[in-house]
Amino acid sequence: MKLLPSAPACRGNNFMISAGWGVGSSPGAGGRAGTYDGGVTDLRTGKRVLLAKPRGYCAGVDRAVQTVEEALKLYGAPIYVRKQIVHNKHVVQTLEAQGAIFVEENEEVPEGATVIFSAHGVAPEVYEQARERSLKAIDATCPLVTKVHQEAKRFAAEDYDILLIGHEGHEEVIGTAGEAPAHIQLVDGPDGVDKITVRDPEKVVWLSQTTLSVDETLETVARLKTRLPLLQSPPSDDICYATSNRQHVVKEIAPECDVVIVVGSTNSSNSVRLVEVALDAGARAGHLVDFAHEIDDAWLADARTVGVSSGASVPEDLVNDVLTHLAARGFDDVEEITTANERLTFSLPQELKRDMKAAASRG
Ligand code: SF4
Repeated sequence: MKLLPSAPACRGNNFMISAGWGVGSSPGAGGRAGTYDGGVTDLRTGKRVLLAKPRGYCAGVDRAVQTVEEALKLYGAPIYVRKQIVHNKHVVQTLEAQGAIFVEENEEVPEGATVIFSAHGVAPEVYEQARERSLKAIDATCPLVTKVHQEAKRFAAEDYDILLIGHEGHEEVIGTAGEAPAHIQLVDGPDGVDKITVRDPEKVVWLSQTTLSVDETLETVARLKTRLPLLQSPPSDDICYATSNRQHVVKEIAPECDVVIVVGSTNSSNSVRLVEVALDAGARAGHLVDFAHEIDDAWLADARTVGVSSGASVPEDLVNDVLTHLAARGFDDVEEITTANERLTFSLPQELKRDMKAAASRG
């Protein structure tokens, strides 16, 4: 498996957090916030925060959320969304307040209505169901998930056995497996390796979910290769750039941290992985929170260094809330540790862009 080249950590973006610091003053989004303190730990309290960068929204999540927002503007409420558009409680609640209705299946959508498919991707049968109900379907699947679907289709067409490394029941895995159910077997981590059976050990390839632990996936692949020495790898990394980058920087900060707080929801695979990666890399404790108020003061009682990161579906406002919460408890010296700068963006789905253009030309 190839990995994205890892950059050395860049340190020194120190700033002090004041009580009024918050939304809109994100160091990640708008340069430094607060007052530069020369890069020294707060001598008054000895407490500090190491803030991971990159963190938060990835290009696929940004596109998916924008898709719902633009669809609401263009077609008006309600807009139906099949499954959570991205796995984040706050994002879903915010879009619901704007007129989005989240459903589990197409059959809950009134005939002829507009439905958006989530960033995690869907199986071909879901498009078929939408056609049968005359739904106007807008596909917000992340292009990096679509890439894995294309790989699955291509290898299935060449009659390969495909070993899909991923978490059983995750929407992305259900969608990818649905592309070629007769050819795909799920391998849920290293312990799943013993269960697989293949027709021809010389014609087997592994693919993966985009949001897995890089290290655990390498372990799974190594174990697969002991059973299947001729196992082929995907043409390019399936674990996406955002997942790899967020794990890489958390690994950098974790050994210095008494506790790492990851902002994200429990059903967000990449967020859950960040806590695991932090613990594996030496953080003494790690916690996942949706909101700042979930932080237990007991977690901070003996801490001097707190690491902060957020999953790829988490808006920066929620990280700002955590930093403000920590500052109120003496952790007001924040050092941002940067291991990569992300500039990737994805354009909106074609079907939506076409309607936006038509609406604009009508004036
Ligand atoms: S985490 Fe990766 S695969 Fe998932 S939406 Fe973001 S960029 Fe796409």
